[in-house]
Amino acid sequence: MKPPVDIAVVGAGAAGLAAAVSAARAGAETLLLDRRAAVGGTGGFSGLTTLCGLYDDAGDYLNDGFAREFAELLAERRSPGWLESSQEPQHAGLETGAPLRMGRVWVLQYRPEKFRELAAKLIATTPTLRAQWSTPVVDAVLEGNRIVQLSGINVGAVIDCSGTAEVARAIGAECLATDETTQASAIIFPLCNVTRELKTAAEVAQVLLPLARAGFPPLNLQPGLEPSRLTAKFTGSAEQVGPLLEFLRSSVHGFEHCTTPITEFVPARRAGRMIVGQQVLTGADVLTGRKFPDAVARCAWPIEQWGADGVARFQYLPAGTHYEIPARSLRVAKIENLFMAGKTISADVDAIASARVMGCCLATGAAAGNLAAAYVGSARTR
Ligand SMILES: Cc1cc2nc3c(=O)[nH]c(=O)nc-3n(C[C@H](O)[C@H](O)[C@H](O)COP(=O)(O)OP(=O)(O)OC[C@H]3O[C@@H](n4cnc5c(N)ncnc54)[C@H](O)[C@@H]3O)c2cc1C
Repeated sequence: MKPPVDIAVVGAGAAGLAAAVSAARAGAETLLLDRRAAVGGTGGFSGLTTLCGLYDDAGDYLNDGFAREFAELLAERRSPGWLESSQEPQHAGLETGAPLRMGRVWVLQYRPEKFRELAAKLIATTPTLRAQWSTPVVDAVLEGNRIVQLSGINVGAVIDCSGTAEVARAIGAECLATDETTQASAIIFPLCNVTRELKTAAEVAQVLLPLARAGFPPLNLQPGLEPSRLTAKFTGSAEQVGPLLEFLRSSVHGFEHCTTPITEFVPARRAGRMIVGQQVLTGADVLTGRKFPDAVARCAWPIEQWGADGVARFQYLPAGTHYEIPARSLRVAKIENLFMAGKTISADVDAIASARVMGCCLATGAAAGNLAAAYVGSARTR
């Protein structure tokens, strides 16, 4: 008997969106589930504004397919007023959809509301895809080496894009985990009305130094979507955000009138759980630009560790190289119809510190969607 859904995708962040749209486009009846009330995940809801991992070090796309399609649609300037901000080169990315160079890497600047809006539109316009919100997946039923039911729904295959390996946990599959010592959580929020130029590392350091001297936990500042706006990543607690803003206003030149539109400050978790697959991608694979015969995605993002001290440590690939992610890192070792993408791929703590960025999550999501659809197609003919 054909199950009610061919493929269930758990988690509607960057990876789950890509997986669900790709599986459905490949002809599978697909159901996307999330415990939240809407699509977006970390990329749509945490306040992030830089999509990393899309490009090689020349600023060219590393992956075609859904990752590129989503990035190009996200970059498209559709609503009037998007551009009113600035003509400065630093913001040319947002104006034109061109990548923005940040140190040795390239990123795409985006608006989180646009991310959510575009994702919802893609879901609504994909014929064999439907979504179910506010639905935490808590259990799965195994029959032999296959999942046959997920939260009471009969399924042909499952893609775990929960970021924390919820499906794998439900069936007791082996997982690896990062922790707060290398992937520290941070509160992300926009800082508006900043009148000071922060284009170089030295200019940023001049702001961060008095904060550190005053005993505040580390703050990371990135260019925001307009010249007077920064994106802050704060390693402190929600209670410390108010005093931090007060200190900036009273003691740091150029921040006298800084504000944030955010009222609820929630730490976003970098740390996740990875499911052990047929191949575990390693930090050495990343840093040597390893290639695989069954490669399904590419990435060139550095290994980016965030210590509890709030300091980022980057290990870069050699210039001009990228590494590949094999299909075996998206397939669970002993469960034939469980696939994974995004933050849950089969990778060690170093490799995931590179592969967790959203551009790579989009690419592994699309690949997992295609792999699961092919699996379901071949299972039907068996
Ligand atoms: C502080 C911080 C800064 C970052 N900065 C950047 C950056 O600048 N650029 C960049 O590209 N990346 C950045 N990242 C990394 C990136 O945002 C994430 O790794 C990426 O978005 C993960 O995508 P995902 O789809 O795998 O998971 P997520 O986006 O986390 O999506 C997982 C989804 O699964 C759902 N879910 C979880 N459990 C269940 C369940 N039981 N049932 C149903 N649904 C469930 C969640 O609600 C969520 O919507 C940052 C991350 C953090 C935390």
